[in-house]
Amino acid sequence: MSANTNTILCRVCGSIEHTLISSTVSGDSDSAVYRCQNCELVYLFPIMTEEEENAFYVSEFEDYMEGRSGPGWESPEAHFRSYQAEGERRLPLVRPYLSNDDSLLEIGSSTGYFLDDLSGYVSSVVGVEPSMAYRDYALKRGIHTVESLDDLDDRKFDVIAIYYVLEHLRDPVGYLSQLQARLRKGGRILIEVPNVDDVLLSRYDIPNFGPFYWQKVHYHVFSRQTLTDVIVRSGLEVDVFPAQRYDLSNHMVWMMEGRPGGMGRYTDFFSSELESSYSAALNRHWLCDTLFAVATDID
Ligand SMILES: [Zn+2]
Repeated sequence: MSANTNTILCRVCGSIEHTLISSTVSGDSDSAVYRCQNCELVYLFPIMTEEEENAFYVSEFEDYMEGRSGPGWESPEAHFRSYQAEGERRLPLVRPYLSNDDSLLEIGSSTGYFLDDLSGYVSSVVGVEPSMAYRDYALKRGIHTVESLDDLDDRKFDVIAIYYVLEHLRDPVGYLSQLQARLRKGGRILIEVPNVDDVLLSRYDIPNFGPFYWQKVHYHVFSRQTLTDVIVRSGLEVDVFPAQRYDLSNHMVWMMEGRPGGMGRYTDFFSSELESSYSAALNRHWLCDTLFAVATDID
C-alpha cells in the first residue's frame, strides 16, 4: 500500500485541497464527501476497491436500490413496469438528438425499459448491463443486451446514452474518452446525472435529506459547471440542460416527513400548470435535481 492511498484527493484534477461537505454517507461509515477547492467537483473519499465494485454491480446493486427506493427493484418485471414513466420523461429531451437511421448504444441499460422506448426512433439499439438478472430479462423481451463493452468488439455508434452511470465511475474522464472512441463521425453521447445543486440539498433545510442523498455508490456528484469540466477534459464538446424528475408532492413529503416516496401524492388537486411552473423555476435557477448533457466530438 503506497503512502498516498489515504491522502484525500480529487480523482479528476488531482488537487488535495478540499472542503468537507458531509461526514455522513448512506451505506458507508468509512467515507465522507468533499468539494475540491481547485475544480469544485464534489467527490466521495475513500471509494470501493475495483474488486469490491465489480462484485457489487454484478450481484448486490438491485438489493441496495430496493432498500433505498422500495418496490420497483424487487424483480426485473416490476422494475421494467415501474420505470415506464421515467422513460417517458426522458423521451422529449432526447428526441431532437435521434434520427431514424441511428445506431444506439446504452451503457447501464438495466431491464431495457429505456431502450424499448428508444427503439421506435432509431434503427438499432444495444445495451450494456453487468447485472445478469436484468440482462436476461431484457434479452427475453428481445432487447439486445451484452455484459460489457468488450463484448461489442470495435463496433461504433451514432448515439451513446449513459443515464445515472457517470456518478458511479471511479474515472469518469477516462470512461468518456473510451466512449468517444466508439462514436461514429457526427455522433452524440447523451448523459444524465443528479445535480448537486438540487434545491432539496442546496436551499431547503431538511435534516434527513443529506444523509439519504450522499451514497457509497456515487463517487462524484456534478454541478452544471463540474459536469461540463469533466466532459471537456475527456475531449468532447458539450451542452448541459437543466431537468427536474421529482415533483412538488415529493418535495412536500420530504419537508413534512423527512423521507422519499411522495411522488404524485397530491396530483389529484395540483394542476399541471402548478407542477410545470414549479419545475420551470427550479430549472431556471439550476436548482433542479437533474442535469442532461449532450456531448459531441470536436472536429
Ligand atoms: Zn478537482
